[in-house]
Amino acid sequence: MEGYKIREPEIVDLLLPDLQEEVININLVQKQTDAGEQSRFKAIVAIGNKDGYIGLGSGKARQVRIAIEKAALDARLNITPVRRGCGSWECGCGRPHSLPFQVRGKCGSVEVVLIPGPRGLGLVASEIGKIILSLAGIKDCWTRSYGSTRTVPSFAYAIFDALRKTYVVVTPQDWVR
Ligand SMILES: [Zn+2]
Repeated sequence: MEGYKIREPEIVDLLLPDLQEEVININLVQKQTDAGEQSRFKAIVAIGNKDGYIGLGSGKARQVRIAIEKAALDARLNITPVRRGCGSWECGCGRPHSLPFQVRGKCGSVEVVLIPGPRGLGLVASEIGKIILSLAGIKDCWTRSYGSTRTVPSFAYAIFDALRKTYVVVTPQDWVR
């Protein structure tokens, strides 16, 4: 499926029947309009099959439930394959339990670096990081983050951006293998 842009959420569910959903964040967004103050909820939802596919999406609505539904749909439209591997020099088992190499992701002021780790390490990450990485099917890796990492949406999108780059970045290790 690599190289194809998937558009229809229903097709995503058909191709990846084991998708799991996690609500990453819910914010109350208030906006001043002519009619007064308008408040809506903004939800961020991550989806993944724990086996190499991850999606992240956001949705806004007056009701929390609908904001979550919209975000889950958006996440399906943003689903992307994640290249996994054993990029840890300490490990070298060759199984896809981690990342094949180090990747960086960015969103706003937040920057995240995902570093391959040896088998059995687990996910050395914040709670949000653990949720997204495990949905993608990554079992062992280190994370480093910079910037205002407490901004949950930016942090989540930075991790998603890094995971996406596993299929974009070609590193010297790829040439050797
Ligand atoms: Zn390994």
